[in-house]
This record gives sequence, C-alpha cells and structure tokens, in this order.
Amino acid sequence: MNTIIEPFRIKSVEPIYFTTREQRSEILKKAFYNPFLIHSNDVLIDLLTDSGTSAMSSNQWAALMQGDESYAGSPSFFRFEKTVQDITGFPIVIPTHQGRAAEKILFGILGGKGKYLVSNTLFDTTRANIEFSGAEGVDLLCPEGKIPTVPAPFKGNLDTEQLRTFIREKGAENIGACILTVTNNSGGGQPVSMANVREVSTLCAHHGILLFIDACRFAENAYFIKLREEGYQDKPVPEIVRELFSYANGCTMSAKKDAFANIGGFLAMHDESLATLCRNMLIITEGFPTYGGLAGRDLEAIATGLQEVMEEHYLQYRIRSIEYLTAKLMEAGVPVMQPAGGHAVYLDARAFLSHIPVHQYPGQALVGALYEAGGIRSVEIGSLMFGKNDGSGNLIPAQMELVRLAFPRRVYTQSHVDYVAEVIIEVFAGRSQVHGLEILEEAPMLRHFTAKLQPIQP
Ligand SMILES: *Cc1c(COP(=O)(O)O)cnc(C)c1O
Repeated sequence: MNTIIEPFRIKSVEPIYFTTREQRSEILKKAFYNPFLIHSNDVLIDLLTDSGTSAMSSNQWAALMQGDESYAGSPSFFRFEKTVQDITGFPIVIPTHQGRAAEKILFGILGGKGKYLVSNTLFDTTRANIEFSGAEGVDLLCPEGKIPTVPAPFKGNLDTEQLRTFIREKGAENIGACILTVTNNSGGGQPVSMANVREVSTLCAHHGILLFIDACRFAENAYFIKLREEGYQDKPVPEIVRELFSYANGCTMSAKKDAFANIGGFLAMHDESLATLCRNMLIITEGFPTYGGLAGRDLEAIATGLQEVMEEHYLQYRIRSIEYLTAKLMEAGVPVMQPAGGHAVYLDARAFLSHIPVHQYPGQALVGALYEAGGIRSVEIGSLMFGKNDGSGNLIPAQMELVRLAFPRRVYTQSHVDYVAEVIIEVFAGRSQVHGLEILEEAPMLRHFTAKLQPIQP
C-alpha cells in the first residue's frame, strides 16, 4: 500500500469559516494587510503557526480529567517528570508555562554581559532572551542551510569548523552555552544529523562548554534521522531520541510543538547546582517547582502527548504531509524551499513575485494574495520580520524573503492540503497582478506583529 493515511479518526470537529473573495478583500484591507490583525474566524485554513494549535487526542482529553491541582507535590507532576526523564534521560525536570519561560530562566543564568551563546540558528524568542540578559547570540549554520533551493539532507547542521574558530577567537570561558535547535525552525524546519550533534558535543565537552538542545521538534528531527542517516533505519524513534539527548547537558522545550499541548514547556538537565539556580528563579517568575506556571491538567496532557508524538505512523504522516505539498508545488514550478522541512512549507517569495522589489515586501504581498484568493493565513519570514532600517529610511533586507505555511498537528486532512496547493498554484499563475506594499505604521521592535501596510498602486 502506497497511500500514507491520517493515522487517526475524528471524534470531535470544529467549524471552519467560509467567506467570499469580496469579503476577504475588505477584511484584508481593514487588517492593513497584516495577517496577525485578521480575526481567526475570518480564516478558512489557518497556517499561521504550528504552536499551541495541535488537536489533542482522546487520551490527552481523558488525561486532563486526571489532573491533580494540588499546589505542591501533585501526582500529575510526578507523571510528567517521569515521562520527560524516560524520554530524554535528564534526571532533573522543571516545568514552565511555555518555551520562552524556560529560556528566560536558563539564559538569565548562563548569559549576561560579555557572554556568547552559539547555535545552529537561534529561534527569535531564544535570541531575544539571550540579548535581554546582555549576552550576544551567534548563529553558525552550515552553508547549505542558507540557500532555499539547494536540497541537502541535514540543512539544520551547525558548522563545526566555524565553531572551532569561534572558540579559539573568543575563548571557551566566554561562551555561556552552545544551543542546537532541532529542527531548525527559523531555517525552514530542517533537521540536524546525529553525527553533527555528536561532533558538536565532543567539541563542547573538550572545551568545557555546556550543550543544550532547543528540543521543540525533537520527534520530527529524530524521524528525519531515521529516514536519512546511515545506521538509523531500523532503530525505534524513542531510541534515536534518547541518543540525541544523551550528547547534551540539558534541554529547553515548548510543549506547544512536539507535545500536542496547547500550552506548556520545560527545562531539563543533569547538573544539580545549575538546577538549583533555575528553581530559585522559577519560584519568582513561574511558580512552585512541581507546577511551574501550569495547571496539573496541563502536565497530564503534556505527559501523554510526549509519548504519542514518537509513534511512527504519526511521524510518517506528519513528515509526508509537508513533503506532499512541497512536491505538488514543485511540480507546478512554484519556488519552494527544498527539501521539505518537518512542520512547514516555505515559499521563496523573492522568486515567486520577482517583479516586486524587496523594499516593497514581496513576502507580505504574497501572504495577502493567498488570503484573498483562498482564505489561507500564512506568515512572512523576510524583510518585514527581520529587515533593519539603515537610519536614513532605507531598508537593510533580510537574507531571504520567505512565506511560511506552518501546519498544526493532526488538524487538517489531505483534501485541505490539496486545496492549499490549488490556491497557491492559482496565485502563482496570476502573480503579475500582485502588488508590492508600503508601511503606514510600525512599532520599533518585532514590527511584523502590528505593522499597518497598504498596496502600492502602479
Ligand atoms: C516556539 C519555539 C520556542 C519558544 O517556545 P514558546 O512556547 O512559543 O515560548 C523556542 N524555540 C523554538 C525552536 C520554537 O519553535
């Protein structure tokens, strides 16, 4: 049998909202061409993010009812703790209300002025928390990871040659930690190979540098290793996951990703003295160490989700559905990032709308066009998000102009994906009709969330 099916059946459904093209044009205009300002019940297929948007399983909903809401020492915490210990091998587990809370605590301790935190690519909240501590975040991604149209199996790898040079130049004592983001969210959801994790680990250990995994998509990354890396084809995913974590000193995790939860996160590690510092901070910012800003029922849902996410039928369906859409688009000549990543399809907006100059935000224009044509919500990852101002009003563009279509886990079916492909291909055929945008209003930081734009009439 060749067809890879959704490995679940549907017990509870929620409506999606149909609108006409005329209505959507009006809605888009009122939202100032910014998808974050569109109400979600005006969206038909919502691919804004895969974070916190998963469908929970019947077992997770059942686990919610088992949640024990005691302030201290809840059995829900001990179940959560044991699950994370079994999966990662880290003995110390500290719950937090989401991933960035774990980052705030950890990098508040390991960061600070004069320190460097090096990574394959830091996710934006990770970088923000590092910079907030006064430290500097440094991305050392392998060269193939920076070119969207060049396929390679592990485009999330850290460039170990550059890491060696960096350690030599800055001194190991000034490096707060090394962070491997698996998969590389900001770099197209591309995986990191086990060989790379091992090599980075050896290098860090040799210099006494701590290695942490940003583990948000650990199961997707492990499945890519199983598919693509020599020697892992016959290993069960939990074994691959355990090996991956075995090379690190600890991890940060957002349970809104590979734990199918709508909220939650954690920090896990080996070192007791570092954990004591983390727990002291946790009590100020998150709560007592056996709940860390979460309800007992959330801890139950996360514990169940963490086990479900490693099931191979699920991972096969998950990776395949992203690859399926990527392949359909490539067949139609649509410029997409290659190979397909784990959680999202990335359109290369610079090539897609080559008639729109970068300072007119082709990515954001494409986001608007997809919404208008088919009610699909996506997000620009380009110069609106990462562009800088040179001080005299000129844009310093981002490295790439991408549009991300992130898939919530277990939410949409194959016909939804077929529909998305159809809409994108139709917009591609009529791309000369899409106009560039100009900014009317913007905030000084993280402007993409609230910026107001309007089309530039030719
Ligand atoms: C989502 C994410 C985070 C932050 O997690 P939140 O739960 O959104 O705070 C950190 N790193 C990566 C790679 C992520 O994808």
